[in-house]
Amino acid sequence: MTTVLEPVLEKTPLERYVPPAKPSLVGLSRAALAEALGVIGVTPAQQKMRVQQLWHWIYVRGTQSFDDMTSVSKELRAVLEAHYTLARPEVVAEQVSVDGTRKWLLRLPGETPGSAPNDVECVYIPESDRGTLCVSSQVGCTLNCTFCHTGTQRLVRNLTPGEIVGQIMVARDRLGDFIGIERVKGPGLPTDGERCVSNIVMMGMGEPLYNFEAVRDALGVVSDGDGLAISRRRITLSTSGVVPMIERAGAEIGVMLAVSLHAVRDELRNELVPLNRKYPIAELLDACRNYPGVSNSKRITFEYVMLKGVNDSLEDAKALVRLLKGIPAKINLIPFNPWPGTTYECSDWDQIEKFSEVVFNAGYASPVRTPRGRDILAACGQLKSATEKLSVRERMALRAMAMTD
Ligand code: SAH
Ligand code: SF4
Repeated sequence: MTTVLEPVLEKTPLERYVPPAKPSLVGLSRAALAEALGVIGVTPAQQKMRVQQLWHWIYVRGTQSFDDMTSVSKELRAVLEAHYTLARPEVVAEQVSVDGTRKWLLRLPGETPGSAPNDVECVYIPESDRGTLCVSSQVGCTLNCTFCHTGTQRLVRNLTPGEIVGQIMVARDRLGDFIGIERVKGPGLPTDGERCVSNIVMMGMGEPLYNFEAVRDALGVVSDGDGLAISRRRITLSTSGVVPMIERAGAEIGVMLAVSLHAVRDELRNELVPLNRKYPIAELLDACRNYPGVSNSKRITFEYVMLKGVNDSLEDAKALVRLLKGIPAKINLIPFNPWPGTTYECSDWDQIEKFSEVVFNAGYASPVRTPRGRDILAACGQLKSATEKLSVRERMALRAMAMTD
């Protein structure tokens, strides 16, 4: 008798976070920051004012030392220094692409002896009218989309809000994107006076809706108008389709939503995005129709990766526009970015154009996402910390193991 194997939907999340002895204040919400001040003896009557001061130094000035906070009394600075830090994630590598894209490899605390490091990647993409930072929400990903490099990574842990906000801080530090800091020069970077990081996409490593609270709290800090001040309309959260969390995301996070659709039939989407077996296309699209705040001025972006001979026929394109009828939508065609060991290929350029034409003729703007930073493996789905490369054979073995567990 043949056994029907259940698909591998999730690996075991490893909650490896061990807080450092002196915690960082970076990424705390205002309430958490007030609490941290209370712990060191700041009275409730003083807390609001002190939070406001620290908020300005941390997020507007990018201050990295309590000593520089000249509007804070010397005594309080010393107490802060004794108990807390302003640490960001540690940058272990920085790469700059010929097109100006920058990728940082960040090492996070919490690895256990003998384990691989907890690394995540963060990518900055300068364009003429904006600078977008692609932020990670998890080390690795518990899901196993077959075309995605991150999905092959074994180690998984959720990032803390501080580590999510910390990626934006690192990018701003490295680009000189805080008031009073010298702006870095480089291809594609805006001149002084303009912000380098104007937009955030939660499209790095990990599934943001599987780390809901941390992502929500971090984006609350990022969008705070007196600090980093990146408006929720300039923040996009991409999900592979965690249906039960989509409504909460709209209600509690309120940012722009992107959905990784990639296929118009359940049979194919089950293969490409195995989470589809749990939450099939019809349920996913229902959740999109009901996404709080969705409207013609706040459309949902549907991401569609172009895989040669797999999902790129013109029938697929027609089915795609039929499927999305009635949903305020944008369609983002993403040329597949190959990575070592993948068996998929990117669709031919003229096929992408024909596909895009069908979508365009149906009334959708259908920008094709230009691959950026390919030379430094910084493009969509290529992110994966160097320490965790698995060969295809290792990956198959891992899957087989998970299936028999
Ligand atoms: N986990 C979330 C967000 C991170 S992935 C999600 O899946 O939506 C960000 C986007 O890159 C997703 O649309 C994902 O499907 C796409 N992607 C993954 N691997 C890719 C690859 N190799 N080439 C092109 N796009 C890829
Ligand atoms: Fe995870 Fe998104 Fe990659 Fe799928 S595409 S494995 S959900 S990061």
